[in-house]
Amino acid sequence: MSDLTVGVIRELYEGPEGANTMPYAPVVQVLSIKKIVSPNGPDRHRLILSDGQCFAQSMLATQLNHLVDGDENAPIRKHSVLRLVQVACNAVQGRRIIICLDVEAVAHPSTKIGTPEDVTKFIEHNPAAGGAPAQAAAVASTTANASVGAGRGGSNASSTTAAKNVPAAKPAAGARRNGSESVIYPIEGLSPYQNKWTIKARVTVKSDVRHWSNQRGDGKLFSVNLLDETGEIKATGFNEAVDNLYDVFEVGKVYYVSKARVNIAKKQFSNLSNEYEIAFERDTIVELCEDQDAAPQVKYNFVELASLGECPKDSTVDVLGIVKDNGDLSEITAKATNKQIKKRELTIVDRSGYSVRVTLWGRAAETWKDTDNGVFAFKGAKVGDFGGRTLSMGGQSTIAEDPDVEAAHALRGWYDTEGHLNEFTSYNSSMATSGAVTFKKDEFKTLDEVINSGIGMQSEKPEYFATRATITFIKTDNLSYPACPTEKCNKKMTMEDESQWRCEKCNRTYEKPEYRYIVSIAVNDFTNQIWLSGFNEMGLQLFGRTANEMQQLREENEDEFSIVINKALGTMYNFSVKAKADSFNDQVKVRYQLQKAAPVNWVEDAKVLAEQIQAMSV
Ligand SMILES: [Zn+2]
Repeated sequence: MSDLTVGVIRELYEGPEGANTMPYAPVVQVLSIKKIVSPNGPDRHRLILSDGQCFAQSMLATQLNHLVDGDENAPIRKHSVLRLVQVACNAVQGRRIIICLDVEAVAHPSTKIGTPEDVTKFIEHNPAAGGAPAQAAAVASTTANASVGAGRGGSNASSTTAAKNVPAAKPAAGARRNGSESVIYPIEGLSPYQNKWTIKARVTVKSDVRHWSNQRGDGKLFSVNLLDETGEIKATGFNEAVDNLYDVFEVGKVYYVSKARVNIAKKQFSNLSNEYEIAFERDTIVELCEDQDAAPQVKYNFVELASLGECPKDSTVDVLGIVKDNGDLSEITAKATNKQIKKRELTIVDRSGYSVRVTLWGRAAETWKDTDNGVFAFKGAKVGDFGGRTLSMGGQSTIAEDPDVEAAHALRGWYDTEGHLNEFTSYNSSMATSGAVTFKKDEFKTLDEVINSGIGMQSEKPEYFATRATITFIKTDNLSYPACPTEKCNKKMTMEDESQWRCEKCNRTYEKPEYRYIVSIAVNDFTNQIWLSGFNEMGLQLFGRTANEMQQLREENEDEFSIVINKALGTMYNFSVKAKADSFNDQVKVRYQLQKAAPVNWVEDAKVLAEQIQAMSV
């Protein structure tokens, strides 16, 4: 037999409006459940809750719908006993409604407990029972640390026990600045049934101001996405709210937002999964939060530019890059709307050796401040396949300069020390068809020129050249090495016993190594031969298989392994090579390291040859 928290229904009914961080977790019984079908959104559920003494109307927050939408074994059903973890009280159409934001089912007795009375009638009959309303209100509005007030004369032992077992309720109750008494609400707790709330959230996206005009008139609007620990929600302001609030919001900053309406989300205009969205109103209050670390930062899931080829068209990605070229502001006319749109195409590069164009639109294109090789994070960029691969920033995308994430610091360091010397492979249109890389013809050297010019010998810094040559030999004895599988480690591991591989750097053992290529190949042209070395990416490109696969092939099917190697022999590439002097036993030797290998584009490269022949005037 479950004990109910006698008196709590009246307490909630007479307590203050708004969110209620319960100082204890009262236990009540469900007397009935009624489903209210809503044409414009998720269904709602009306519950009658009883504490054994009184019953009152309650609504279940829609995020708890799954607790009732089941069979007769659903967690919430008729006669279920629930622990109220978090509730809010609202006056809806003149009646007080208790909204269940978070509940736990405790037991499922088969009958009604006690003989509860309608709470309004009960108050009429017992005007002073259970302590003065003011006192009850004081209990309900205190913080989670408050003890249960004496006014709750009806409380029993079980409710006290329950309070100890329940973790502190979710929203951080506490006075905001200016002495305002609003409770900070989690974004996931917002619903149309509460009207007194404040959220503390970081702006992750801010749209341009958009204007519209139709037969009913014209107007303007903007929207922001707001993020806290519990979720993300879109908020939109129309007309006057644009004037009041557009300039207040800054992407990346944390704000208190209160006095706005919560509506059913129009998902066709949003990429968020929240069932609701916020509409700013005339008296909506937005204040900058004094503690800017108080809400979570935007999370990135960066994709390397070299991997964009694997991302499907129209997917969205996060990329981090150095802006090599700021592009020019231009204007195009959109075919669909016949409107002029501002446009700018940035070129970004990253450590993967690729460069890609990123298109900014509208205000983002206009307000872009030219940067000299700055690090920028592009979140939610859309992948296009125009000219190989391009990226486009849409209404839900964001750009952050120098984000305070490790990847950004690493990229900065890499670019300043060596990246700025690199050549980058661009996703251009010829790539889309042939995978070729366009080299400048004056960068090409014959192998004789490479050897006799002493390139790489002169300075400490590496030098670069391009050459067109054919693979004539591939060293197979050390094609790959057993590497540490930890991301970004790649250190060589040693075998301790048959199932234990050890990485000294990470100081741990693994069952299996991750093989990585160390390619060593001889290439020839009509003038000479040189040896080139390359790393994992080169092996992947030359053999079309991972080093793990090749290792396995070699162990299990030597013939097939030879076939793969031989297939790579005799193929011609445009190679981009880094030349750097190495001293070994007092001997200085230039090592040639493969940067990239692009299959020869016969048409384009023949045109270059034709130009060269013409230039010779023969
Ligand atoms: Zn390691």
